[in-house]
Amino acid sequence: MSPTCETPNCGKEAKFRCPTCVKLGIDGSYFCAQDCFKSYWKDHKKVHALVEKLHPGSALAADKQQPLELSWPGYHFTGSLRPHRQTPRRTLPDSIVRPDYSNDGTPYSERQSKSVLRVIDDDAELEDMRVVCRLAREVLEEGMRAVAPGVTTDEIDRIVHEACIERDCYPSPLNYYGFPKSCCTSVNEVICHGIPDLRPLVEGDIVNIDVTCYHREHHGDLNETVFVGKVDEDSKRLVQAAYDCLQKSIEAVRPGVKFRDMGDIIQRHAHSAGLSVVRTYCGHGIHRLFHCAPNVPHYAKNKAVGVMKPGHVFTIEPMINLGVWRDQLWQDDWTSVTVDGKRSAQFEETLLVTETGCDVLTRRLADNGRPFFMSQV
Ligand SMILES: [Zn+2]
Ligand SMILES: [Zn+2]
Repeated sequence: MSPTCETPNCGKEAKFRCPTCVKLGIDGSYFCAQDCFKSYWKDHKKVHALVEKLHPGSALAADKQQPLELSWPGYHFTGSLRPHRQTPRRTLPDSIVRPDYSNDGTPYSERQSKSVLRVIDDDAELEDMRVVCRLAREVLEEGMRAVAPGVTTDEIDRIVHEACIERDCYPSPLNYYGFPKSCCTSVNEVICHGIPDLRPLVEGDIVNIDVTCYHREHHGDLNETVFVGKVDEDSKRLVQAAYDCLQKSIEAVRPGVKFRDMGDIIQRHAHSAGLSVVRTYCGHGIHRLFHCAPNVPHYAKNKAVGVMKPGHVFTIEPMINLGVWRDQLWQDDWTSVTVDGKRSAQFEETLLVTETGCDVLTRRLADNGRPFFMSQV
């Protein structure tokens, strides 16, 4: 027997199912014709709302009345990636200690710090940095393991958010200057600060996940770029080179070296591989503050001030492009993309300068320290 239309008092033979219900995996929801479906829509869509309540994001994603892809009339996109709908802001248990910007988005302590370059010489504080950096590495790896074709960056954000909570960490990006999510996910031509949304990753994409955790009132920051399924040769070359740029600069970190020297090392390697270096975003000091002195540009002949001393803690996070170095912002005021729409890759670690060199506080412990992408090729 074929199913009958669900509209009350109709009873005709059903010809199709509600497409939203099909996507959501809801059984039933048969209708005879579009007219009947439309007339009953006001009541029927409550089913979707219920699913949305139980599994935030899923109904929104499947609901054809609300397209997944956003349209920004008049905005010129440089590549083929488009912004997608975002899920509502995620919440945290009251027990998690928050940074000062968590309520209104303003990092007051950062603004007051001016350009003071701190030396951390207190053993207890150094231990706090080691702990938060190790936790941030664990959280990043949970996000990395979720990357696959069909998985949305919102799902990665959910995993990162929950991995933070499990470790009694606040996800530092959340509400920092109003950033809406708990990590940055930067796909293909996105250089950095991509906002996790309901776009499913596609085979052939590359994606960077940038995680920062806040624990015991200190931040730890790192990121990696990985492949989504099989990717083209240019993407492999780009990701490998971005990784090598970071490693070569880390090898040079030790007392007496100038922060501005990092850019010379990174750009020399990027140019030798036929790639370019983003100039707008830099490495940064990090400890009680998310972003502070020193400023660490990744391009050559920069004018950054400061000489490395034991106890300095900062990130290096080169963003390397297949095409030109120039960037532009999406209308969301966060997402930075390449102006030619070609791909960009990035790696980041948080480093502590020691008496003899440096300690990579966020280093990978698994897989002999090899980055994630290396086990994908
Ligand atoms: Zn950073
Ligand atoms: Zn980061």
